[in-house]
Amino acid sequence: MLPRRPPRSGQVGFLYLPPYRVQGISVAGEQTAVHIPELDVAFDVGLCPRPILSAPYIALTHGHMDHVAGLPYYFSQRVFQKMGEGTCVCHEAIAGDVQAMMGGWVDLEKQHTPHNIIPIKPGGEIQIKPNIMLKALEASHTVPALSYAVVEHRKKLLERFVGVPQSELRELRINGTEITHTLKIPLVACTGDTEVGGQLFEPEFTNAPVVLTECTFFENDHKKRASVGKHLHIDDLVELLRVWKAEHVVITHTSRRTTLDQIRDIIQKRISCDDLHRIHILMDHRTNRIRYEKQLEEMGEGVVAFE
Ligand SMILES: [Zn+2]
Ligand SMILES: [Zn+2]
Repeated sequence: MLPRRPPRSGQVGFLYLPPYRVQGISVAGEQTAVHIPELDVAFDVGLCPRPILSAPYIALTHGHMDHVAGLPYYFSQRVFQKMGEGTCVCHEAIAGDVQAMMGGWVDLEKQHTPHNIIPIKPGGEIQIKPNIMLKALEASHTVPALSYAVVEHRKKLLERFVGVPQSELRELRINGTEITHTLKIPLVACTGDTEVGGQLFEPEFTNAPVVLTECTFFENDHKKRASVGKHLHIDDLVELLRVWKAEHVVITHTSRRTTLDQIRDIIQKRISCDDLHRIHILMDHRTNRIRYEKQLEEMGEGVVAFE
């Protein structure tokens, strides 16, 4: 008798929610890293599955091991694979500790791996692409934590100048008249680990077309655990779905305590028919594969999926 092969694990979850790809792994307590390639950002880096490496920015939601342990490897591999220095954005309250962790690696390896750590205050934002900002919102978890929103800043002509000829507008601009205002359009919001809090009701969340949300607990008798660990329970998500207008809500941070079959079953029972089509589970590989194959089919034969 031959010994069994080790189980296959670490399969990367994937959803195509046009125009965004959502790819990563997220299992509560084990690892969470979710990358949106079109926006140049990954939320957390619990371990560092290969598709996360190409993210120029890692937005850390908080310092729990399963969200941050892949960071030194991310920095190191980015350089090794000649992808340029990586950048980590994190809550200002933990930036010193993250920096100290990287300092430990410098001592251990006797070499300096380039790493860029940007502290951010709740409410603060940094630019990650032209006109695209990463905004931090205070979250409520057992340690300092942030939710994030990626927000497009789009300049729009002020109402009173609509219809004014271009030449006149140019003149006004040269003379220093403000002719535009900035629309702030949320693109993707990510809860990180959090209990229900005010940030989840801000326009960055209510108006985002895509929300990545943790939902760690599903069973009725796990409500206490959710509140002690300051996590979201399916009961919270039912409420949040009423205020989030998102076309797509991606559940992450599911726990192995509850099987996927149980999770699917509870979602079917708890979430209204009208809302079910909005819900995706990042780690439901089978459902997501079938969905993607259907998307490919709808695009017509001969269309090759991009890498
Ligand atoms: Zn977590
Ligand atoms: Zn946590």
